[in-house]
Amino acid sequence: MDYKKVYKAANSNEAYFIKGLLEQKSLKVKLLGENLSVAMGGLPLEVIQVDILVHKNNYDEAKKILIKYEQELKNIEDQENWVCKHCSKHNPPSFEICWNCNK
Ligand SMILES: [Zn+2]
Repeated sequence: MDYKKVYKAANSNEAYFIKGLLEQKSLKVKLLGENLSVAMGGLPLEVIQVDILVHKNNYDEAKKILIKYEQELKNIEDQENWVCKHCSKHNPPSFEICWNCNK
């Protein structure tokens, strides 16, 4: 087994995004689980978690890239969430009015 699992993507979109990210750095990437929906009787692909495998020689580098990726993801979430002035609840950026108090 020359490939090691480095990350579990929440869905196939994320998996392909990460695959692209790693391939930009010339890492060898395989996805595991993307065809699972067929075997499981037609579950939508978006809800299937996909394992991301990299060649064992690329594992450490891939891990570094993914740690950075997760940090950036968190930063984006922190930046884009907004806090309601009326009730101090956190709202995702897609909400134009507060989910809690509708203001
Ligand atoms: Zn509010």
